[in-house]
Amino acid sequence: MDADRAAWEQRSVVRVVPPVEPRKLAKVPFVELADGRLQGVVSSGSDIERVYVSSITAGTHALSCSTNNNRPCGALHGYACKHIHQLADEAVLQYGLDRVSRYLGVEVPEGQSLMSAIKGPVERTPAAVVFSRFLRHLAYLEVPDSTEPLAELHWFPATRAVR
Ligand SMILES: [Zn+2]
Repeated sequence: MDADRAAWEQRSVVRVVPPVEPRKLAKVPFVELADGRLQGVVSSGSDIERVYVSSITAGTHALSCSTNNNRPCGALHGYACKHIHQLADEAVLQYGLDRVSRYLGVEVPEGQSLMSAIKGPVERTPAAVVFSRFLRHLAYLEVPDSTEPLAELHWFPATRAVR
């Protein structure tokens, strides 16, 4: 029995093909170059009901990150939190490094990442404006022709979960 199992395990080890990387949920469902900022919405890694609104201001490179309820991101002090890094990565994917760096007014040395060249102060920007644009963006994506009322907020419950 044990010998059989060992043989089976050996065979299976030999035959296993590395799986294709599983599809991830959108970490950054919304990114835009608007209002003089690179800004967008980043999913929380740990809480599916929470999203972060992150931004980098053009020119000053000021960094901002807070939840959709306007609570400051605890990971942003002095240097960019992972949400801002994810936002920057997604912006470079969608718009290309040239366009993003030109918009922000930053020189990115050859072979370096966008964020390696961003060294701005922390500045709290209200999340509400960006977040409402995100909800409108969702609405346009999901129900372009509907005449029904848009129940966008069911994505993000307004009441905090009871713990
Ligand atoms: Zn953050």
